[in-house]
Amino acid sequence: METDKATFETGGAFLRDTRAEVERHLSDRDVRLRASLQLYLKAPIAVGLIVSSWAVLLFTRLDGVVVALCLGGLLAGATLVAFCVQHDANHGSYFKSRRHNHLVGWTADALLGFSSYAWRVKHNVAHHTYTNVDGYDDDIEKTPYARFSPIQPTRPWYRFQHIYVWPLYSLMGLRWQTLGDINSIRVGSIGKSALRFPSGWTLAGLVGGKVFYATWAIVLPLLVFPWWKVATVYLGLSMVGSVIMAITFQLAPCVEEASFASPADLVSDRRAWAVHEVETTVDFCPHNKLLTWALGGLNYQIEHHLFPRLPHTLYPTIAPIVERNCLRHGVRYTVQPTLRAALGSHFRHLRFLGRAGLRAEIEMG
Ligand SMILES: [Zn+2]
Repeated sequence: METDKATFETGGAFLRDTRAEVERHLSDRDVRLRASLQLYLKAPIAVGLIVSSWAVLLFTRLDGVVVALCLGGLLAGATLVAFCVQHDANHGSYFKSRRHNHLVGWTADALLGFSSYAWRVKHNVAHHTYTNVDGYDDDIEKTPYARFSPIQPTRPWYRFQHIYVWPLYSLMGLRWQTLGDINSIRVGSIGKSALRFPSGWTLAGLVGGKVFYATWAIVLPLLVFPWWKVATVYLGLSMVGSVIMAITFQLAPCVEEASFASPADLVSDRRAWAVHEVETTVDFCPHNKLLTWALGGLNYQIEHHLFPRLPHTLYPTIAPIVERNCLRHGVRYTVQPTLRAALGSHFRHLRFLGRAGLRAEIEMG
């Protein structure tokens, strides 16, 4: 029977046992305090990198090495804001207060140029609630450009998607900053999740964020440098940053090892939400501390999807608990040992889905 409504079974022994053990672990005040301090320390580093690199570029006499360092600083700072500041804050894991979290989450608007309001619906609701559910999770919805889920229809040009998807990823930032945000608000939904037209402080934050971002990233540099230099640097940084961000977010749910589902599958399988979240994501390079620091724990996606409101600095400490409970309850827990293995799996997933369904002679060609 076909159904359009995606619903999960709630609760279940796996989630209950895992939660209880994680709560026992977090009852140690030192564990929570250490994780919070590690989280808070990242914000000044991320914002400081952007502000200092930007100021040096605009207000000092430059030589080649300094320019390269500053461009690297802008890219690193923006990546850290995306992964380690706005992502946590917009999930509500920075502070207890929703308002304070939204304020820190506004770093997405002010420093990255995309709406934190739209992000919370796209990421927290559409992606986190309905991970890899066709029609609901906007992260796998790339029709007619690409096919990320086996449930989606095939098109002849998808056979090249494992090649052309990388330049497509590079346009993600520009799209969010402009048409993506505006379109989502105009349509009033992302996936099948409602996005109400913003009002009050939310609207002020959205408009103010766009103006603030455009002022420091485009208008003020145009007062100092010729337009073609500003355009080259802006596009270059945006494209590289977008590829880093898209790949990081895709390496967990959009790989060979992950499950995909239609809304009807959830009903017929009576799938529990927590089990679905673990089996639609994978961890990668969990023992690489530098990568874990830089990616804001996004290489611990299983833990992140089960506990999105915990600071990401806690994920390495709760991973053994989650893994142990997966084993006990027969839930598939997948870890890619290296970044290369995770990238390879994403590449093969795209190639396989692009070729599947094509006529044999095309497939062989
Ligand atoms: Zn998230």
